[in-house]
Amino acid sequence: MAAKRDYYEVLGVPRDADLKTIKSAYRKLALKYHPDRNPGDATAEENFKEAAEAYEVLTDDNKRALYDRAGFDGLRSGGFSPFQGDLGDIFAQFGDIFSEFFGGGGGGGGFGFGGMGARGPRPTVGADLREDITIRLEDVMVGVTEKLTTKRAATCRACSGTGGEGGEIVTCAACGGRGQVVQGRGGFMIATTCRACGGAGRMPKDPCKKCNGHGQVEETRTLEVKVPPGVETGVRLRLQGEGHAGSYGGPPGDLYVFVTVEAHDTFVRHGADLHCELSLSFGTACLGGMAKVPKLMEGEIDVRVPPGSQPGDVVRVKGEGLPQLATRGVGDVLVHLTIFVPSEVTDEQKRVLEDLEQVMPFTSVVSAGGPDRRETKRRRKKGGGLFDRLRDALEGD
Ligand SMILES: [Zn+2]
Ligand SMILES: [Zn+2]
Repeated sequence: MAAKRDYYEVLGVPRDADLKTIKSAYRKLALKYHPDRNPGDATAEENFKEAAEAYEVLTDDNKRALYDRAGFDGLRSGGFSPFQGDLGDIFAQFGDIFSEFFGGGGGGGGFGFGGMGARGPRPTVGADLREDITIRLEDVMVGVTEKLTTKRAATCRACSGTGGEGGEIVTCAACGGRGQVVQGRGGFMIATTCRACGGAGRMPKDPCKKCNGHGQVEETRTLEVKVPPGVETGVRLRLQGEGHAGSYGGPPGDLYVFVTVEAHDTFVRHGADLHCELSLSFGTACLGGMAKVPKLMEGEIDVRVPPGSQPGDVVRVKGEGLPQLATRGVGDVLVHLTIFVPSEVTDEQKRVLEDLEQVMPFTSVVSAGGPDRRETKRRRKKGGGLFDRLRDALEGD
């Protein structure tokens, strides 16, 4: 295909041309290159399409602004697919303007394309589409590109979305192209939407074999979805223009990808922070020491356990959590300490523990209202699983 010409150049109008000037320039070109006046002339047909495309963009405020700013790329980035330059499509889209230009009144006007007096169907934006993906907690750390296979309604290429075989459309016989039928009922005239054409006033001459006249076909595609680091369950990623195709030249809808982050075996996530549980021996809790917890991705984190650590105490390891989507910060790892109590002991362990009991008797009733309330509160936390203690830790006390 030859390089596309600038739209203003195509219509021969200045860049600040007003609507009237554009309309008038287009009218001249449309009359000159109209297929009825140039039967079998491929160049004329190309010129005719080119003018229609230029007219379509320059008379639409949004599209014209995009085009003025960034040319054809601007239109594409704005979600407007390149004009489907099929004749049928052009007539489907420009019914109004042709009727204005050519003064057609129903199907039998001076030009052979039926339905010029009809109200053409309006360009409609395609519907949005939703898909769901599930990613692992590890993927939140560095981001991930997921392959997503999705189905959508796409414009039928065979008929350029007109629904007519070969793109051919005619005036609806039932309503004469008006899109409405008027019936007398009890002395009143009531206008209702024509059922034969759905109010469009025009319909395919013969339904397109590829799409059965719907103008759209189901399309299965595999997309790559870039999931940025730091996303949370419920985050919605928008893929512009990847939704269902629009009708009659309207832009496609968007695809929204909803993200779910899987639960992890070791870590519980809270925002950008990761919580895990570390089970200490009684000796380590008493005397303090170094322990290790696994990193989310690979390797281990050294955790310094302070002497006299109580079950439920939390050691915070800075900067080992997840990236934050909004702030570019990084969360922490919070290590919740618990004491390991073996359910069975060896004879040797039993002997040592009995000796310990002699020098360190620590079995006593905890007073709920005793002098050291803080200590009591800490001990109350002892029960329950990680989630109970997490809730305590996160809600504060
Ligand atoms: Zn079709
Ligand atoms: Zn009709």
